[in-house]
Order: sequence, then C-alpha cells, then structure tokens
Amino acid sequence: MEFDLLWLLALPVFFIFGWVAARIDLNSLLKESRALPKSYFAGLNFLLNEKPDQAVEALIEASNMDPETVELRFALGSLFRRRGETDRAIRVHQNLVERDGLDAEQRLNALSELGQDYLKAGLLDRAEEIFLKLRETAREEEAKGHLLEIYQQEKEWAKAIAVAESLPNHADHVWQVEVAQFHCELAASEILHDQLTEAEAHLAAAIEVNRKCVRATILQGDLASKVGAGETAIGHWKRVEQINPAYLALVARKLLDGYTAMGRSEQALTLLHGFLEQHPSLDLLDAVFQAELENAGPKPAYELVRDELRRNPTLLGLDKLLQAQLMDVSPEKREDLVLVKNLIHTHTRRVARYRCDGCGFKARQFYWRCPGCGGWETYPPRRTEEFDLAP
Ligand SMILES: [Zn+2]
Repeated sequence: MEFDLLWLLALPVFFIFGWVAARIDLNSLLKESRALPKSYFAGLNFLLNEKPDQAVEALIEASNMDPETVELRFALGSLFRRRGETDRAIRVHQNLVERDGLDAEQRLNALSELGQDYLKAGLLDRAEEIFLKLRETAREEEAKGHLLEIYQQEKEWAKAIAVAESLPNHADHVWQVEVAQFHCELAASEILHDQLTEAEAHLAAAIEVNRKCVRATILQGDLASKVGAGETAIGHWKRVEQINPAYLALVARKLLDGYTAMGRSEQALTLLHGFLEQHPSLDLLDAVFQAELENAGPKPAYELVRDELRRNPTLLGLDKLLQAQLMDVSPEKREDLVLVKNLIHTHTRRVARYRCDGCGFKARQFYWRCPGCGGWETYPPRRTEEFDLAP
C-alpha cells in the first residue's frame, strides 16, 4: 500500500521533468532553425513541390552561406543520381568539388560522387579521369572497382586485366573468372584478325588464371582449327565434357564440322549421341538433331527426338518432333500438322530463352557476359523451360 502511494507522488515529478526536457529541445530546435539561412527552407519547399531545378539553386545558395549544410548537398546529389537525374547530380557535386572549406575527407567524397555521376550518365572519359586521380588516395580500392567497370564498358580488356589483377582477392569475390574472360575477349578478337600468336598467349594466360575456363578451351580449339590442326582442335573441344558438360552444346556443331572435314562424320554422330545420353539438354538435342538430319536423313532424326521426348517430355522437344514429322508427311495431313507446329512454336519462343542467374535477364542468345547486370558466366547454357522442369 505504501509503495503504491510513493509512485503516485512521483508521477507529477516525472511530468515536470518531461515538460522541462521538451522545452529545452524545442528551444534548441528553434535556435538551430533560426541559424539556417532562408534559402534552405526555400530549397526544401521547392523540393517538396517537385521543382528540383529551383531546389538545387536554393540549396546550393544555402550551403554557400552555411557550411553545416554540406552534408545536405551530398544527400541531395545522391538522391538525384538514384532517380536517374544525372545532370542535376553532376551540378550539385561539381559545385561541392569547386567549393572552398571542405575537409580532405569531404573533398574525396565529393570527387568520388561526381565520378559516379559521370559513370551513370555514360560520360566514361570524365569518370575515368576522376577515378584515376582517386587511385592515388585513401579511396584507392573503391576507385579501382569503378575503373574496372569503366574498362569493361569500353571493352578496354588489357586495362581491365591490369586493374583486376591489382585488386585484392576479397573472400566474397574472386577475380579469376573475370580476368580469364578478359583474356578470352582479347583472344577472340585476335583470332578474328589473324593475330594468332597473340591469341595463343592470351588463351594460355586465361587458363593459367582459371583452369576451368570453358571459353578459353573452346577458343583454343577454334585457334587450332584455324591453322588446320583438326585433330588438336577436336581434342580441345572434347575437353569441355570434363570441365563443364553443361557447355557441350556450344561445341557440338564445331565437333561435327571438324570430324566432317576429315571425312569422319560417323564418329561425330556417335560422340554427340554419347554426350546427349550422358548430359541431356535441349541445346544439345537441337545440335544432334541437325547433325542427324544432315548426315543420316529425316528418319533417324525423327527417331532421335521421339526417344528423347519420351525420356524428357518438353515443349521444345515436341517442336523438334513436329519439324521432323513435317519432312515426311502426306500432303493431306501436312496442313493440320503445320497448324499444330505453329501453335507449339509460339509457345516455345517464350520458354526457349536463356536466363541470367544473377539478375534474371532473359535473352534468345547465349552471352558470356549478361547484358542486364554485367555479370560474367551468369548465363547457364540452358533454356528456361529446362529450369521450369527441374525439380
Ligand atoms: Zn544478369
């Protein structure tokens, strides 16, 4: 009983404490707001009324008068960049860079933000210039990350290799896959321009940095094939099965052509059938189907897809089956079959795409680098229908 009474007496005391505390806060707030220049409120007002240009001018004026508002300008600048209004972000950050009285940390921050604005706006030369400057500072690692992005966009692979190799290997991101891909990009263009010695060196470098680089192995085969070393080329392409059989469809056509050039297409068919048996995939089925069609005719091609369709019932398989049937059908049944085939085909167009593991971007074509998120080897060479069927 006595205890409760004590609490009752204490209540007004707490109330008075609360009132005093609130008044102190209110007073300091009022004092602070009087200290802020008028243009600051004008700026906020413009911002709230969706007049961003006037807001930028007013807030820049406010922060010229009051150094306390520098942080506000940083916030405003990154807000504009996030909204894709890069020209406004550039104006805000440019103004910060040129302003006197920033401490060293703030100046680096302003430069870095401006560089990111240029990068987002696609002004890669200007962005590069800024990040090259920042490479000599405490922001070195961050600057290198942006430079790597710039060089990839510009397809400056040699520069990208140099930057990536100077980055520390973080536990969450190892650069071997990317560096090997940069070497492959160089090699692919060198093979195209008959600079074969250079290409050979780049492919060796790719495999040295990433022994499991499928693309380098495929390109080694292409290079051998270009100088007429058919047997060596086949050896390289066949190695894809050991490295990563998911990519076998990418070499199926090359193997067939390689063997056919040496008059051994039978051997190619046996090999491809074995691949399909061991590592079934829609792209591989497509390649083997074409190979059968060209070498053995419509009947074996039809039997191949029929057996495969029993094993893995897919729309894309059915599409192939109808294609094979159409080649050997009586004129009166043909019309119906064409109708069904066209109907199926419109559906298969949707499920016959590749999908990026990183961002989900879908494309009809296979890419080593995702056009959506820029990730390397994020496209498994499997059609979306195969993912949807997977348990
Ligand atoms: Zn992606």
